[in-house]
Amino acid sequence: MAFKERVFSGVQPTGNLHLGNYLGALVKFVALQERYDCIYCVVDMHAITVWQDPAELKRSIREVTAAFLACGIDPKAHIVFNQSQVAEHAELAWVFNCVARLGWLNRMTQFKEKAGKDRENASVGLYAYPTLMAADILVYRATHVPVGEDQKQHLELSRDIAQKFNNDFAESIAAHGFGDAFFPLPEPIIQGPATRVMSLRDGSKKMSKSDASDYSRINLTDDADAIAQKIRKAKTDPDPLPHEEKGLESRPEADNLVGIYAAIADKTKADVLREFGGAQFSAFKAALVDIAVSRLGPIGAQMKRLVQDPVYIDSVLADGAARAQAIASETMKAVKDIVGFVRP
Ligand code: ATP
Ligand code: MG
Repeated sequence: MAFKERVFSGVQPTGNLHLGNYLGALVKFVALQERYDCIYCVVDMHAITVWQDPAELKRSIREVTAAFLACGIDPKAHIVFNQSQVAEHAELAWVFNCVARLGWLNRMTQFKEKAGKDRENASVGLYAYPTLMAADILVYRATHVPVGEDQKQHLELSRDIAQKFNNDFAESIAAHGFGDAFFPLPEPIIQGPATRVMSLRDGSKKMSKSDASDYSRINLTDDADAIAQKIRKAKTDPDPLPHEEKGLESRPEADNLVGIYAAIADKTKADVLREFGGAQFSAFKAALVDIAVSRLGPIGAQMKRLVQDPVYIDSVLADGAARAQAIASETMKAVKDIVGFVRP
């Protein structure tokens, strides 16, 4: 069966949006608007899988929304909203909790990393996070999901859930007129030179909102001085840059900075090395500072302007939520019929 093409993706309001979120996700969100109907969600229900201060959470929801808009997402042509305003996400997640198997969730590396050693003390929500993510996508029957490399495993799980739902309820799906599949198998869009931006302090760890060191990441709201200082202090090795990509193997920090430069300049790593091969890091970092500041500066400034106007931000979210709910409620009605729930 052919599904209408639709893009869905989300960002958690869990703190400082960084260059990894920007290059791995936001830049793609913006580009996809040209070709698809897009739904972009501030996933606040995912955020509370680890403790969030309520006042801080509210601030952060508005800040991520401001980042969406500042990067160039059009909330009128597409849909921008926060997850908790559309109850169907939670409703479908429950059905998916009953479709997904414990064994599947036990393999999820994000849970292992985030729960750490004290697994007994992690929230049930943190464990069930991937079933809610599947619901986020599939409640809109979305077909394409732009994400960073770290979310690949969760997306595969979403496909497994969609497939199992389609199989388990095949007869009922057909009987209700939905043909041979109710849910599409959503495809990840993970491509380009910066699908996994690494920490500036440690080339083996991904750049993350939750890293204790602010020097590990470039925040979208950092000013030019902060960006320059963080790039200058970024960990590197003593050798000059190689002339070819192969020379970046086993040099994770160099690989990371070249990847960042390539993504910002909209070039390949090979292009960047053709230009900077043989250069010292001091020269390359200076060029990286220039390009990063000129790209991020206006976005950070626009975000700061937008968060000054929470009434406007909240109106964008309310409008987006109403339009999202119109789609989600249709899906939920069908799901209830398929599963065998009685409804008015
Ligand atoms: P947290 O530490 O709270 O999980 P996060 O930095 O991972 O925060 P998310 O809100 O979980 O941010 O992810 C939002 C999007 O950004 C996802 O598509 C994710 O894959 C992408 N992303 C996150 N970190 C990176 C990174 N270092 N490089 C590329 N993409 C990333
Ligand atoms: Mg994350």
